[in-house]
Amino acid sequence: MTPNGLHEKLEELYTEVIRRNAGENEFHQAVHEVLDSLGPVVAKHPEFADTAVIRRLCEPERQIIFRVPWIDDKGAVQINRGFRVEFNSALGPFKGGLRFHPSVYLGIVKFLGFEQIFKNSLTGMPIGGGKGGSDFDPKGRSDGEVMRFCQSFMTELYRHLGEYTDVPAGDIGVGTREIGYMFGQYKRITNRWESGVFTGKGLTWGGSQVRTEATGYGTVFFIDQMLRTKGDSFDGKKVLVSGSGNVAIYAIEKIHQLGGTVVGCSDSGGYIIDEKGVDVEVLREIKEVRRGRICDYVDLRAGGASFVAEHSIWDVGCDIAVPCATQNELSGDQAAALIKSGCKVVAEGANMPCTPDAVKLFAEAGVMFAPGKAANAGGVATSALEMQQNASRDSWTFDETEEQLAEIMRRIHDRCVVTAEEYGQPGNYVAGANIAGFIRVADAMSALGLV
Ligand code: GLU
Repeated sequence: MTPNGLHEKLEELYTEVIRRNAGENEFHQAVHEVLDSLGPVVAKHPEFADTAVIRRLCEPERQIIFRVPWIDDKGAVQINRGFRVEFNSALGPFKGGLRFHPSVYLGIVKFLGFEQIFKNSLTGMPIGGGKGGSDFDPKGRSDGEVMRFCQSFMTELYRHLGEYTDVPAGDIGVGTREIGYMFGQYKRITNRWESGVFTGKGLTWGGSQVRTEATGYGTVFFIDQMLRTKGDSFDGKKVLVSGSGNVAIYAIEKIHQLGGTVVGCSDSGGYIIDEKGVDVEVLREIKEVRRGRICDYVDLRAGGASFVAEHSIWDVGCDIAVPCATQNELSGDQAAALIKSGCKVVAEGANMPCTPDAVKLFAEAGVMFAPGKAANAGGVATSALEMQQNASRDSWTFDETEEQLAEIMRRIHDRCVVTAEEYGQPGNYVAGANIAGFIRVADAMSALGLV
């Protein structure tokens, strides 16, 4: 066994990635997770080594880092840092969200951008991979402050974007409001109403039905497919969803529609338990209207619910766990506790929410585990549907769009299952997703020559 447990041809490459990207731990983790699956691919396809496809994949095509100055409501100058990592455009224009959160630094943007390449490839749609964001914290900021920040951010970023070049969307801290301010500034600077340059737009200005719901709904469609392989369903299942943002809210809504009961959700301040089933309307009021905290749920729900401060929701047991908050939120110890409670299925609604230890324990215990790059691909897939509608100046109904999303998730699920079997690891969704995502992008990169 090599020191990092990788195929010997990949070990050297991984060491090089660590050396060249010092201190970017989340990026190292995301690369290791993919390389760990690629051993059998390297053995079967020596041609990928000849064109250094994997080494090229680990190096972004372009990385942009810039100053974002803006003035707060008190008249004080604020300085943030903006990022866009244009990781890979073999399959289409760079595509991926923008994250506004104080934890954002280059290592987070690169892990997200790297994951996005394989996720986007898995959707089967013509989209490359990229990601961006800023260490700006929207929490507690007024609409005016958020607008001025977004305008300053876009005053630099606009020159790198375009419907055929790079198409951002939302992620943590970036929703329709922020996309609106950024799209408005892009339009003002370029003098072009170029709807295809952003996805996640509002419904009155070029957005797609179901885009808001898509990541959460898509994750639940994926879990539904996993359950079906065992002749099972959501019916009567006790489910925990972490987070309470856009992904969590719509995952909860769809789980309830399919017969499961979500008994708890969370934010960074703690978690709520509501045995009758989390009320999505109350959640939406708190998070989408008031931009408040999950602890407010107990009062608004008026009876039956409780709030536990400063603890992790994973201390509570369940049948199905859907981490939808953020990276590395579910540790090895918490995975062990979930397994002990009888949890049989885990699907990542967020990007890389389970630590490598947790993923390993799930595999050893026979828990069905879906990695984010497969399970949460419904968001970006619906972004690609938004791009299709924009390109044809069309807009589809909610039902039509939701049916397309469900079909895309079925296909991603089946692609993972078939690929895992083909490479001798039946039931391993991590291997299936990484290998299937990799092969499509590697084929394209080989065909396009050394670029
Ligand atoms: N940020 C989302 C993701 O993690 C969506 C990206 C997009 O729609 O471009 O996939």
